[in-house]
Amino acid sequence: MIVMDLEWNSGYDKTRLEEILQFGAVRLDAPGGRITDTFCAFVRPRVHKKMNRTAKALPELKAMLNAPQDFPAALYDFVKWCGDDTVFADWGGDDLTVLRQNCSFWRLPGPKVTRHLDLQAAFSMQVGVINNIALAHAVEYCGIPETFTFHNALNDAMYTALVSAYIRPDLFSLLDLGREARRFLFRPAFPPSVRRTGPYSAPPEALQSQGCRRQPCPLCGEPVWVRYWYPGRECYYTDLRCRRHGVFLTRLTLHYAGEAQWQALVDVPEVTPALLKDYDRALRAGPISCKARKRPRRRRDRRRRPGGAV
Ligand SMILES: [Zn+2]
Repeated sequence: MIVMDLEWNSGYDKTRLEEILQFGAVRLDAPGGRITDTFCAFVRPRVHKKMNRTAKALPELKAMLNAPQDFPAALYDFVKWCGDDTVFADWGGDDLTVLRQNCSFWRLPGPKVTRHLDLQAAFSMQVGVINNIALAHAVEYCGIPETFTFHNALNDAMYTALVSAYIRPDLFSLLDLGREARRFLFRPAFPPSVRRTGPYSAPPEALQSQGCRRQPCPLCGEPVWVRYWYPGRECYYTDLRCRRHGVFLTRLTLHYAGEAQWQALVDVPEVTPALLKDYDRALRAGPISCKARKRPRRRRDRRRRPGGAV
């Protein structure tokens, strides 16, 4: 696995390119594993004449401006160094995007990437926040001695690799989850609730039924109407939204009871990695919309109107 970090300059001219000024990378024998090799290349800029404010503050700017190599030469060395490694990791995902942007600007092939791990996202999951954490804060949080200057690509790649050792391995498998599914990782525990309804003559009838669609918030009991169902492997999901308590991942399971009758079970299950993966797949499959309920909507509109006129 290769942990990569880049420094770049956006410039002030019209050319839209985050021009790479330094490659930094370390090779790990596994996520969170030993550093077995390092790569560093300063890149002489050839596109932007002026440095933006962030680039001007780079500690190694002089080495970049006087570098013997330009981007094509540095990229050639980097791709060669990467060799057969095709799993890449970075802090936040921008580095890989910027590398691809530079490669397409110069019309050169970049390294082959079969998997990309955003270690910032994994670290955020580990500490239980949805916000992005700056690398320097993660380093401080992990108690890693701040021996090297930040914003040198090799040092930052090294720090990123060291932080990866503090990330629980099972979280790497959750990195492919979309943001929508990932947000349920951070929900606090709440009392379990299971409701049975039915019987229904067929699954589509159950999905549109009042018994399945009108669900109480698990915390306050306020009824909420389900607007979409997402088909999972053996159930349906929805994000039940209480105005006061936020969103609850809610599951509908149908059981065939014989004689053309279906029983429905609606619950707010415990969020596990397996459940989130199934929910993420369901989200990607797309929603089954519930039919609009005309009367309650008209009533709500009437209530809103006087407020809107003020
Ligand atoms: Zn509520």
